[in-house]
Amino acid sequence: MTPSRNHTLFDQARAVIPGGVNSPVRAFGKVGGTPPFIESASGATLRDADGREYLDFVGSWGPMLLGHAHPAVIGAVVEAAQRGTSFGAPTEREVGLARRVVEMVPSIEKVRFVNSGTEATMSALRVARAATGRSGMLKYRGGYHGHADAFLVEAGSGAATLGVPDSPGVTPGTAADTRTAEYNDLDDTRRLLDDGRVACVFVEPVAGNMGCVPPAPGFLEGLRELCDATGTLLVFDEVMTGFRVAPGGAQERFGVRPDLTTLGKIVGGGLPVGAFGGRTDLMDLVAPAGPVYQAGTLSGNPLASAAGNAALAFIAEHPELYTHLEALGGQLDDGIARIRGTHGYPLTWNRVGSMASLFLTEGPVTDWPSASAGEAERFTRFFHGMLAEGIYLAPSPYEAWFLSLAHTESHMDRLLTALERTLATVFGA
Ligand code: PMP
Repeated sequence: MTPSRNHTLFDQARAVIPGGVNSPVRAFGKVGGTPPFIESASGATLRDADGREYLDFVGSWGPMLLGHAHPAVIGAVVEAAQRGTSFGAPTEREVGLARRVVEMVPSIEKVRFVNSGTEATMSALRVARAATGRSGMLKYRGGYHGHADAFLVEAGSGAATLGVPDSPGVTPGTAADTRTAEYNDLDDTRRLLDDGRVACVFVEPVAGNMGCVPPAPGFLEGLRELCDATGTLLVFDEVMTGFRVAPGGAQERFGVRPDLTTLGKIVGGGLPVGAFGGRTDLMDLVAPAGPVYQAGTLSGNPLASAAGNAALAFIAEHPELYTHLEALGGQLDDGIARIRGTHGYPLTWNRVGSMASLFLTEGPVTDWPSASAGEAERFTRFFHGMLAEGIYLAPSPYEAWFLSLAHTESHMDRLLTALERTLATVFGA
């Protein structure tokens, strides 16, 4: 038998990279086993170093709304690369990308580009603190806003998966400025905003980092009112939902306007881009227009701007994309309802547009306590069962599944068939 190349690469990686990966959940630490090392991807398919193919529902954790190696994006990147990969000087492309973001995202009047979602959130927080003169920040249990210190308090995503929601290395002083409320709980939020010391509420308008948890009806509207009443800024972290749940993100879908918005993932078309934006008066606090310092050698990078421009142009010109995604999502809704009805498994399926999660619990799943109620061992069997079926899901229950333009009806059938077979073994039928 030929030795697994995935295995060899993982051994080599662990010798020179902490845990063998450059972002923790990729290591399969909680579910065990060797992660596939990806050699190439096209459309909805990933191919690993052993030549095995998978139907992908991770989509690089969100950016790949158009599918892998979309010709419009690849063409733009290749064309840009031939003209130089970084200038550290302004370019027409980044102006184009900024104009697209301003046109598409309802509350953004000005935007600054950075290189990751983490940079976007930490910069938006700085602006909110500067604008209000307050130090506090409120986030939600199980919410993830990147790995800047202020946000690593009761954090979701990989921090929750690895059991380090409050990471060592975050100083008690920093942690003390972060308050945490229960998602979808306006009373809890009100109580924490009462003393007028909170600069901003950071919220994923559709939570995606404790698995997918939609906002309860009235939750986002209620946050807007509470923030207005207490002089607190409302920040929508749309790193995941931006351009995904609607062309203008969750703020378009739910009709609530935040003061500041953070973006990442899709805005870079699969290259490293993040952004923060909002009202002109707030964004003009950012240097050099104002005194709030924020900078980046590679920010507005020509390749990244080209990829982002191509992706957003495609999205703006193909609104039918969202109809396609909704139809695929509906197919999954029906299929999963049928599986649950036929077999009586405890399953909760949460979906908003093309982001979704299947919780292996009775539900409903509306917040962190209900999202984290499932048994880890059950998830591990589920995950490996699906992987054996050639279905690539995130190796954690605290992540969303993503659909893309490259997915088809027959891919959904494949997913549902694999689900029915795997759930039978998980629930011991
Ligand atoms: N905010 C949200 C809502 C996210 O989902 C993520 C990443 N999954 C981040 C911020 C951080 O983005 P990045 O990983 O690009 O730093």
